[in-house]
Amino acid sequence: MSTNKKTIVWFRRDLRIEDNPALAAAAHEGSVFPVFIWCPEEEGQFYPGRASRWWMKQSLAHLTQSLKALGSELTLIKTHNTVSAILDCVRATGATKVVFNHLYDPVSLVRDHTVKEKLVERGIAVQSYNGDLLYEPWEIYCEKGKPFTNFNSYWKKCLDMSVESVVLPPPWRLIPLTAGKEHLNIFNFKDTTVVKKGVFFFVLAAETVWACSLEELGLENEAEKPSNALLTRAWSPGWSNADKILTEFIEKQLIDYAKNSKKVVGNSTSLLSPYLHFGEISVRRVFQCARMKQIIWARDKNGQGEESAVLFLRGIGLRDYSRYICFNFPFTHEQSLLSHLRFFPWDADVEKFKAWRQGRTGYPLVDAGMRELWATGWMHNRIRVIVSSFAVKFLLLPWKWGMKYFWDTLLDADLECDIIGWQYISGSLPDGHELDRLDNPAIQGAKYDPEGEYIRQWLPELARLPTEWIHHPWDAPLTVLKASGVELGTNYAKPIVDIDTARELLTKAISRTREAQIMIGAAPDEIVADSFEALEAANTVKEHGLCPSSNDQQVPSDVRYNGSKRVKPEEEEEEREMKKLRGFNEVIREEEERGLFSTAESSSSSSVRSVFMVSHSCSLVSEGKNLEGIQDSSDQIATSLGKNG
Ligand SMILES: Cc1cc2nc3c(=O)[nH]c(=O)nc-3n(C[C@H](O)[C@H](O)[C@H](O)COP(=O)(O)OP(=O)(O)OC[C@H]3O[C@@H](n4cnc5c(N)ncnc54)[C@H](O)[C@@H]3O)c2cc1C
Repeated sequence: MSTNKKTIVWFRRDLRIEDNPALAAAAHEGSVFPVFIWCPEEEGQFYPGRASRWWMKQSLAHLTQSLKALGSELTLIKTHNTVSAILDCVRATGATKVVFNHLYDPVSLVRDHTVKEKLVERGIAVQSYNGDLLYEPWEIYCEKGKPFTNFNSYWKKCLDMSVESVVLPPPWRLIPLTAGKEHLNIFNFKDTTVVKKGVFFFVLAAETVWACSLEELGLENEAEKPSNALLTRAWSPGWSNADKILTEFIEKQLIDYAKNSKKVVGNSTSLLSPYLHFGEISVRRVFQCARMKQIIWARDKNGQGEESAVLFLRGIGLRDYSRYICFNFPFTHEQSLLSHLRFFPWDADVEKFKAWRQGRTGYPLVDAGMRELWATGWMHNRIRVIVSSFAVKFLLLPWKWGMKYFWDTLLDADLECDIIGWQYISGSLPDGHELDRLDNPAIQGAKYDPEGEYIRQWLPELARLPTEWIHHPWDAPLTVLKASGVELGTNYAKPIVDIDTARELLTKAISRTREAQIMIGAAPDEIVADSFEALEAANTVKEHGLCPSSNDQQVPSDVRYNGSKRVKPEEEEEEREMKKLRGFNEVIREEEERGLFSTAESSSSSSVRSVFMVSHSCSLVSEGKNLEGIQDSSDQIATSLGKNG
């Protein structure tokens, strides 16, 4: 220990002891005062949902125990203003420094900036660290110094970076900040008459910190407890549990990840997402463990193992990339990254939105996914892609609505991952799905849930249907439905929209978008620079009588309509024709063999992909044109977003 500094360690979404740079630095310099500050008002529209708050509560209890074992204590504060709460802690403890780990969501970025400003004004040292990413968003730029807008180029650059971040060992002991009574005066507000009268005063005097118990943070309502009990059976939050899960996954499951992660039933992926979101495991540690395996398997010429490690690492890269995009394009929680979606005529139909949320669309795979989400707070990435695409492409619901619903219901609700997920499926990212790509959930069901186990688990009303019909009961003969106890429209919904009508409506919407785009003379594939520009364009279109959607005014036309003719993905076209000619299952078998399923990875191999598609033989710079934004994007990004994602 070099000095005897008194430091406040401000915990947020870094609820761990190991490889926690802020905690390690503070412990190295002297005594520490760990604090967690909860300010619901500041979270605004991004106030965490029930599942997420339940997780946070368990994780805080876990961290409290760990800090106790190290000789310190976690002070919990509920406040109306984070900055004031920190200043109170400074005054009460006599600390001369505040440390914390970076966050990159829009709310935290602004808040952290204010905290720094106020502390510096008062002569308090403040230091922030990278505790959440492999690389900071400002460390990765293209040769021109601009941010990357496609994942492949970004990830390649990351992997080429020579400096690998170091995983810090946990402190073996913490010196608690033991200021005298004149400085540290922590009250438990439960016992005070002021609070008993229902009036909230969090600062009593200049040298007082109003600490509270975990229960008093109010992360879980009484009404939520019965539902949350189900979560307790399935999940064990906390950093040391994360550690065990990682070790088990790396040692036993990673080797088969490429094969198993395609299945939507069972634990086919790592299930690390909530732990990563709350910072209970260091992403650097996850990366290094998987990377070590990759190197060993490459040396042993274990192709399957190596492929699995590479794929898993890409998932970790996507998480970093989500922060990178949100940091470099800070409007992405409200606007699509591509300007072409600015005028898309979204159908703001609340009834359809409700049917989607409640799993009453009549498409078994979608309904099963939505019910799993509600019951467990988690879904396989493939199911996330399917249900979100359905909301956007079949129901034309604004992607922001879906994003917000996921935010409210997922255990791992993570603003940046959620944003990038929804933008990816709704044609808002240069290397994501095309807007006009309409995947048939019935075909996807046959591919990712071939035995119908997933449907039987979540839709017991369909459990007795033969597997042949389970993903498309509307095609089943009446006798089969009757024998299985299924009455469409009574005990299971009829399809909310049929696929041909959905395709027609989507085509019309895209044409309208395109008209609007032509009217304002906008470039079809530009990246939105800022929200002001979007607003200006929206006004131009309004003047011409073409209203941008009230729900997502920044959204329209597609980069893929490079010319005037709309390109139709050939796999969907073929699917329809072939289905007419032969039985459904036969088509599935054949398409499986030819890899023509309209899923993420297959669409990437389609020759009619977007302007961002180049053949693999293309070099990075071809015909004098900078292809930085398009290099082999299709296959790899779609594979990783689609498989991992
Ligand atoms: C519409 C949509 C919304 C999503 N919302 C969220 C969200 O709110 N929070 C969240 O953590 N993930 C989100 N994802 C990404 C992905 O679905 C989950 O990270 C993954 O399913 C978590 O399961 P796992 O931990 O077993 O993943 P694994 O496959 O084991 O991957 C390990 C880790 O890599 C990261 N990762 C993997 N794939 C992705 C991806 N496509 N995008 C970003 N990170 C990835 C995650 O941190 C994950 O925990 C979303 C995807 C879509 C399509």
